[in-house]
Amino acid sequence: MHNPFENAMTQLDKVVKIKNFNPEFIARLRQPNRDIRISIPVKMDDGSIKVFEGYRVEYNNALGPYKGGIRYHQDTEINEVKALAFWMAIKCAVAGIPMGGGKGGITVDPTKLSKGELERLSRGWVSRLSDILGPHKDVPAPDVNTTPEIMDWMADEYEKITGDKTRATFTGKPVGKGGSEGRGPATGLGGFYVFDSLRAQMNLPEKCKVVIQGFGNVGSNAAEIFAQHGHTVIAVSESKGAIYDENGLDIKKLIEYKKENKTINDFPNSRNITNEELLALKCDVLVPAAFENVLTDKNADKVQASVILELANGPVTPEAEEIILKKNIPIIPDVLANSGGVTVSYFEWDQNLKGENWTEKEVNEKLQPLMHQAAQAIYKKAKENNTSLRVGAFILALERIESKM
Ligand code: NAD
Repeated sequence: MHNPFENAMTQLDKVVKIKNFNPEFIARLRQPNRDIRISIPVKMDDGSIKVFEGYRVEYNNALGPYKGGIRYHQDTEINEVKALAFWMAIKCAVAGIPMGGGKGGITVDPTKLSKGELERLSRGWVSRLSDILGPHKDVPAPDVNTTPEIMDWMADEYEKITGDKTRATFTGKPVGKGGSEGRGPATGLGGFYVFDSLRAQMNLPEKCKVVIQGFGNVGSNAAEIFAQHGHTVIAVSESKGAIYDENGLDIKKLIEYKKENKTINDFPNSRNITNEELLALKCDVLVPAAFENVLTDKNADKVQASVILELANGPVTPEAEEIILKKNIPIIPDVLANSGGVTVSYFEWDQNLKGENWTEKEVNEKLQPLMHQAAQAIYKKAKENNTSLRVGAFILALERIESKM
């Protein structure tokens, strides 16, 4: 099992080999400012009390309040949360937004809880942590398995405890309850803007064949957006399997199909394949949009894509990255590719504090130039330092964080 935090620190090691940073600054970045573990007792529907383990890691706030999602997953543990918090610090700096890096989570399989149990668990996470949260201190958001409804319960609990009515302590809330228009598709859309900005520099054709792993919030939105822009999505997957059609899947119909059938398997005119087969398909762009550590030293040499666009966090291990880069396949790194999500979260926070409501068009018009600027700044940094886009992104982010510290 790969330890995601060790992976993150291996990435940092690689950067300091290429660019000289003050060693004291780097030493500070090797640990979060604080990591907090909590126990959350929840009254279950049968009257018993069950205790869950939860986390909040506040990694670095040089650029602004800690910002980062909350993950509900049975495998979530402190090293994963620390890695994700570190990447958030890098990501906010890359996107050029005034936010620091944080992340939270609960070790839980949310599919095993009733709605009431899930709500009590979510409110419990907030009540344990309300002292450290706040619009100018620490601003959580959704991540894997946490929804706008959960953010609404959390914002409500925070308001009850503190009296703060701005709703700016949580982002990713439902529209109409303090949420921003455009937050749902923001990560997929931001990823598309980054891809579009770099497409010609990556020598990709105008119309690309795209393969997407993961068909949740990020993956399904990305699939829809790529298809809307005339690219051909030839395969997608979810945890229960993958589907493939070399002529292109009809993504609108697939989204409807998944809503009805709760699975993408057996989608008409497509062929069921395995997730491993999906990662090895020949295509222009491979988009991991599910989980970390999906491309490892065991399967990296099978990749046949021209470019990898990392919409998931940490999908490529450091060993896999070496193999993939040696095959001359560029990786557009997570800290850039999926930064559209946190950028629109920042827009939501900004609107809450100003009492404004922007339209989806306004949100997207603000997002596109930020993604383009970040993509081009990183491309330039990577070229100047004769290195990968990931190292280029880290150099840019570390320079911005260091100058504030
Ligand atoms: P989600 O829970 O909505 O979707 C996850 C998807 O991955 C589901 O379709 C699930 O079936 C699929 N999946 C799970 N295990 C899989 C496996 N072994 N093989 C293939 N597919 C598998 O989560 P999400 O919000 O879409 O997040 C996906 C990734 O994007 C995560 O790494 C998350 O940290 C990252 N991310 C999300 C956001 C956001 O705004 N939601 C922002 C930045 C980064």
